[in-house]
Amino acid sequence: MNIKYFDNAATTKVKKEVVEEMLPYLYEEYGNPSSLYSIGRNAKKAIEEARKKVANLINCMSNEIYFTGCGSESDNTAIKGIAYENRKKGKHIITSKIEHPAVLHTCQTLAKQGYEITYLNVDENGIINLTELRNSIRNDTILISIMFANNEIGTIQPIYEISKIAKMHNIIFHTDCVQACGNVPIDVRKMGIDMLSLSGHKIYAPKGIGALYVKNGIEFEKFMDGGHQEKNKRGGTENVSGIVGLGKACELAKNNLTYHMRHLQKLRDYYISEVEKRIPNVKLNGSREMRLPGNANFSFQFVEGESLLLKLDAKGICASSGSACTSGSSAPSHVLKAIGLTDDIAQGSLRTTFGEENTKEDIDYLVDNLQEIVSNLREMS
Ligand code: PLP
Repeated sequence: MNIKYFDNAATTKVKKEVVEEMLPYLYEEYGNPSSLYSIGRNAKKAIEEARKKVANLINCMSNEIYFTGCGSESDNTAIKGIAYENRKKGKHIITSKIEHPAVLHTCQTLAKQGYEITYLNVDENGIINLTELRNSIRNDTILISIMFANNEIGTIQPIYEISKIAKMHNIIFHTDCVQACGNVPIDVRKMGIDMLSLSGHKIYAPKGIGALYVKNGIEFEKFMDGGHQEKNKRGGTENVSGIVGLGKACELAKNNLTYHMRHLQKLRDYYISEVEKRIPNVKLNGSREMRLPGNANFSFQFVEGESLLLKLDAKGICASSGSACTSGSSAPSHVLKAIGLTDDIAQGSLRTTFGEENTKEDIDYLVDNLQEIVSNLREMS
């Protein structure tokens, strides 16, 4: 069956150009980057070239980029790294209720170690309240970690305003940018971001590679002990081919950003308008304006999300009922609950996240099937 893939927030297909760039580092240039002979030196050089490309995507210096194993590792390193480094200064961290588990569970671990965490509320669109943020700041607040864009409902936070508040109080600002990188313009300098997490497999690079930006001058405790790699901050022989792939994906993302955004936005807006026109009793979750270009999340009243996914799967359609990491559990998503949905409505939600290869015809196929399946499921219930 022909697969129609609408789950690009879960992961993306690796681009051909990315694979081609990686292949030499699996075959001819397979040396350990710490080795002094030529194939080691070449691998090292490739890592540094990739670092420049990642830095270029978010407008930082290349020595501010640390390669990690994934977005989750970047989030862990940022949050635990700042918490442990500043434990004498304070133990209070501010985050939001709609973060990815990579942030939420990291904060929960820190809470068990005596840190205090404030989880900011969000409004019905999934946006934090800046006054609540200001009021939550204490003398012992050491970190604000707020995601750039949400993985389930696509809502984009007022990053510049958050960073201004953090600066005013001399607090470090980290943002989980895993869903936003490559999909919207990011400029850490202009936006006042101190630390930022990103992940390869969300931007057409392979799984198992991520990066963390840390502004020069910010000290953080290392998360991984081992060799001297990544300026002694992340021991372990580098994933050279993955790093090269991430670099290429960042270069392509930077060069194609305007076209990419426009393409996804058109598909998303067409999908939203068709669903709202053709299927009654639906609710768009998340903000209409402050939204990732490729994200649409609908709740279909009187429909059970899991059944909907299974029926769509039978038609070759890949989508998601929540984030990939939390699907598999039938508990309603913490994000949909935080924006005020009842359990019943949250259970009937469907996230579709569009990607480069999707076309208008794909959306027609999706909506045609959705209309029929939703109607059948509603008759059955
Ligand atoms: N943060 C967000 C917002 C995500 O969507 C994800 C993955 O879905 C992650 C972090 C974790 O990234 P990774 O899968 O690379 O660990």
